[in-house]
Amino acid sequence: MPKERVVLITGSSRGIGAATAIQLASQGVNICVNYRSEHEAAEQIVHRARQYGVNAIAVQADVSQEQEVMRLFATLDNELGPITGLVNNAGILMQQMPVLQMSAARINAVMQTNVTSCFLCCREAIRRMAYSQGGQGGSIVNVSSAASRTGAPFEYVDYAASKGAMDTLTRGLSLEVASEGVRVNGVRPGFIYTDMHASGGEPNRIERLKSAIPMQRGGTAEEVSEAICWLLSDQASYSTGSFIDLAGGR
Ligand code: NAP
Repeated sequence: MPKERVVLITGSSRGIGAATAIQLASQGVNICVNYRSEHEAAEQIVHRARQYGVNAIAVQADVSQEQEVMRLFATLDNELGPITGLVNNAGILMQQMPVLQMSAARINAVMQTNVTSCFLCCREAIRRMAYSQGGQGGSIVNVSSAASRTGAPFEYVDYAASKGAMDTLTRGLSLEVASEGVRVNGVRPGFIYTDMHASGGEPNRIERLKSAIPMQRGGTAEEVSEAICWLLSDQASYSTGSFIDLAGGR
């Protein structure tokens, strides 16, 4: 019998995280839906997931805070059993502006939410999954961005830099745990239709920019979750420290 799969998806009350949670559930994976504030939306995802017959829980936790990450993993341990996969998806961006105008408070908030959270969740997952820690192995997927390559000038270089840090973490950590049964990979979505663009002050950003995308359109959350689910799965068993770009050719 294959072992039960248990996957934590951070920030899965909506957008790419929610699509990933539903797709995993449809594959028979037990899921932990983490969210920061959208309780009702998270419960809806859990409700939809359970219709596939899997165990699913929603856990509120701000993953930028170490104590909340510890509580999140302890809850998952108790309610779902040993974790086999982690998707570091939670992320934020802020109002579009050039670096010239950015405050330290803003830069730190973006880094803490996008980068520190990823380090902390990776650490807690590896403490449970690595052979040397008594674990059975597992898989981590970090949701980076095409912005790590483009730099997102005049919009959010802080966000782009946080995704660059995630890429470096993905590469370095993958090498630390390659012989520990844990694979660490990343996806780099481009322009995906979610609520995130509203946080930058431009909900219709993709419409403005899509003529510059070789495929001439934005992508869907499901087109990203397909790649995340593949990297998480045993089908990707020889892939670690690598990235899938999902940016319509950009
Ligand atoms: P979204 O629709 O804005 O959703 C963000 C999710 O993250 C929500 O579930 C939110 O929870 C959660 N979240 C935010 N801060 C959190 C925190 N401190 N602790 C726990 N959860 C937190 O975003 P999305 O577009 O799906 O993006 C998901 C990931 O893909 C992000 O890492 C983003 O950088 C990346 N990405 C997106 C695009 C794009 O075009 N959309 C492109 C490239 C990369 P609540 O709603 O409950 O607060």
